[in-house]
Amino acid sequence: TKSSKNDAKLEDAKLIGITVDKAKDFSSWYSQVVVKGEMLDYYDVSGCYILRPNSYAVWEEIQDWFNARIKKMGVQNSYFPMFVSARVLEKEKDHIEGFAPEVAWVTRAGSSELDEHIAIRPTSETVMYPYYSKWIRSHRDLPLKLNQWNSVVRWEFKHPQPFLRTREFLWQEGHTAHLTKQEAATEVDQILELYAGVYEELLAVPVVKGRKTENEKFAGGDYTTTVEGFIGATGRGIQGATSHHLGQNFSKMFNISVENPEGADKPRVFAYQNSWGLSTRVIGVMVMTHSDNKGLVLPPRVAQTQAVVIPVGLTSKTTDEVRKAINEGAESIEKRLKDADVRAIGDYRDIYTPGWKFAEWELKGVPLRIEFGPKDLTSEQVTVVRRDNSAKYTVKLAELEKRIPEILVQMQKELLENARKDFDEHRVIVDEWKDFVPALNAKNVILSPWCGVAECEDDIKDSSATKDDGEEEEVDEKAPSMGAKSLCIPNEQPPLKADQKCVRCDRKAITYCMFGRSY
Ligand code: AMP
Repeated sequence: TKSSKNDAKLEDAKLIGITVDKAKDFSSWYSQVVVKGEMLDYYDVSGCYILRPNSYAVWEEIQDWFNARIKKMGVQNSYFPMFVSARVLEKEKDHIEGFAPEVAWVTRAGSSELDEHIAIRPTSETVMYPYYSKWIRSHRDLPLKLNQWNSVVRWEFKHPQPFLRTREFLWQEGHTAHLTKQEAATEVDQILELYAGVYEELLAVPVVKGRKTENEKFAGGDYTTTVEGFIGATGRGIQGATSHHLGQNFSKMFNISVENPEGADKPRVFAYQNSWGLSTRVIGVMVMTHSDNKGLVLPPRVAQTQAVVIPVGLTSKTTDEVRKAINEGAESIEKRLKDADVRAIGDYRDIYTPGWKFAEWELKGVPLRIEFGPKDLTSEQVTVVRRDNSAKYTVKLAELEKRIPEILVQMQKELLENARKDFDEHRVIVDEWKDFVPALNAKNVILSPWCGVAECEDDIKDSSATKDDGEEEEVDEKAPSMGAKSLCIPNEQPPLKADQKCVRCDRKAITYCMFGRSY
């Protein structure tokens, strides 16, 4: 019968939904949300994943936004090979020391062993810089600013996590060479602002801007700036994206130098270089931040589909005339929205009930559901439901083009506000060591006065490693028992008292540093 057929469909609707609670089993929840939300699928090489259109579309939005801005700064896109010879890769010693354990090698072609093994780039400094040396001859060739959108391979042995830590990942890597340190330093900050913009403006995820400690900076670089995010559900920090100043370390190794503009008799000037990267990790941070037990929640600015129009209220008693008017009405709503640059689609499949469709689009994270039924037809309106908070709006048909974009903007703004409130409430100032681990266990990241000494940072990490009662089942090696890493020295600092001691040792504090368990 018809009703038992509908019952069967409702059962299906339940089956495709999320079956675990975000608050109770975060790892399984995350994996269900990304797979059932059709963002990603698992692959048979561990640590590698397939990015499906629902996530790749987010990446494309980021690419468009970022490309527009770096091009204004004079950066050009290009593409370099994925392979690098052992000889070149090993040229900068600190650099290779940092990356060596994670480098994947091609050792064979067919059945014959290669004479010289070839590495797959874990990042492209060593791939690109021999050519910077060739191309940069005079100070008139500076600055050179290239970027590439590519994938890199880091054969990490830590527990892989979709988007956050994968063995192959997509990113952009910018590599620039400048005549002066000042010019390079300015660019490092400009890029960091853009990274903050990707997170806050596009993904509605708040970040803290800062500098990495010596321990945590990029291998071979001078200093690393970073945007740090926060995953509220686990209380862990996550490195969002990094903009490095490499100083002259690489330019000296690769001989990227120009004649001194002050005179040919003066020593040649080695270029000051930067490199900066933002990866598909950002998508995982966005999912973890906004999504819920019904599935994905996508911020409107990056959602592949921003609004789905669904005809509702059609029953066996509905006349053909009304049925036709509803379906045509829904199609016209879809068209009008598209013409108004809203990424809208209509779901006119008649094999599914509206309830089934609602659940499916909720799972996929579409920001707005627009219902159009017989009552709406009579009152010349639609019913709009927001994905994030289920808020309902009645919108007059005449006002569609104005109101729908407004609701999308409002939703985008509130997603960021809510996430920011969560981060602000879980970033606590701790001046005394006795309060440090309890604050960590309460799922916070911590701002503490710190002496700046590397051994003290190691000691903080060791001494804060403890068993916490929650989430023992998490199979991540970096589970809640792990110690707190320094996340960054935030640019925005709480005032430091003149005689303030380090949170851990007897030395004088020189700065506030943000510490936390992290991904
Ligand atoms: P790095 O060049 O090491 O500073 O990396 C640049 C950015 O890529 C980092 O800030 C991370 O956000 C991201 N990233 C690093 N390793 C991974 C990974 N295994 N999977 C995804 N993203 C990564």
